[in-house]
Amino acid sequence: MSNPVHQICDIIRRERSFLILTHYRPDGDAVGSQLALVLMLKKIGKRVAAWNDDAVPTKFHFLPGASLIRNPPAKPQKFDVVISIDSSNWQRVGTAAEKIASRKHLINIDHHVSNDRFGDINWIVPSSPASGQIAFDLIRRGGFPLTRDIATCLFAAISTDTGSFSYANTTAECLHVAAQLVGTGLNVGKISHHVYESYPYARLHLLRLVLADLKLADRKRIAYYWITKEMFEESRAKREDTEGVIDYARSIDGVVVAILFEELNEPGKIRISLRSKNAKVDANAIARVFGGGGHREAAGARIPGRPSEVERRVLRAVRAEIRAAGI
Ligand code: 5GP
Ligand code: MN
Repeated sequence: MSNPVHQICDIIRRERSFLILTHYRPDGDAVGSQLALVLMLKKIGKRVAAWNDDAVPTKFHFLPGASLIRNPPAKPQKFDVVISIDSSNWQRVGTAAEKIASRKHLINIDHHVSNDRFGDINWIVPSSPASGQIAFDLIRRGGFPLTRDIATCLFAAISTDTGSFSYANTTAECLHVAAQLVGTGLNVGKISHHVYESYPYARLHLLRLVLADLKLADRKRIAYYWITKEMFEESRAKREDTEGVIDYARSIDGVVVAILFEELNEPGKIRISLRSKNAKVDANAIARVFGGGGHREAAGARIPGRPSEVERRVLRAVRAEIRAAGI
């Protein structure tokens, strides 16, 4: 497969109006990658819009340009180019899809192994730890500007998707990219302060309620808990505060798969997050059983059904995957 980076760079140079999209319920990699592209395109004089159904999580409000991300407008709009970054399928960009009156090119840039190649041009790099690192590659190879503001967005993107440079996806290349970003003069301490040390109290309250109901299964190889609607009400936490909650289940010694179940506002729908700690156990494969996707180590899905029934089905699928791995 040919690398489409040259084609993408040509289109960026040639065309004038751009819409940058990412997935709903955006995480750090989604917001950071989206904003980096927005700032870079503005810097080279393009007309740029950026939409998301969900607000930028509060902890990312400090990112340069964060206020440029808007809800999709009521009336569909025309663009020369639509770029989706960090979204594994077109459904995950949400209602933005219905607000594009026309576009010449749909470019799909992503690092999810489950990406279904929905673009006219697809640049999918599953070996990349973060979509932010692919965006960095695009900027470098296109000779586009890398300002300190753009680097700040990319650093936040890569930092969050690598667990602050701690997961196995933290390669030498990743650290080399990070070094170049820091070289623009950005302040690592300031970024970490906003992203990792500025949680609202309500998130800790929610965490207390969630951890009180931690359960272990399959000879303690599976750790799981629920975030119920009642827990959101009692703690006054926001949906965005669930990011990272699964990490506590994963952190237990001996656990192979961690599962977070979240009751969504839409009645009868459950969001699951999965984390695998063993290279032989594929979280993406488990998520796919339920129509979701992601990466080998981290994946998710949205599943219709009653909570007890969804829990039973997911636990059964996780047990089967652990057994198939022969561990
Ligand atoms: P998280 O558990 O942090 O929400 O997501 C972990 C990974 O799985 C992320 O890379 C995310 O994009 C992916 N993911 C989460 N939920 C879904 C889903 O419903 N569908 C798909 N295709 N991917 C998901
Ligand atoms: Mn990502």
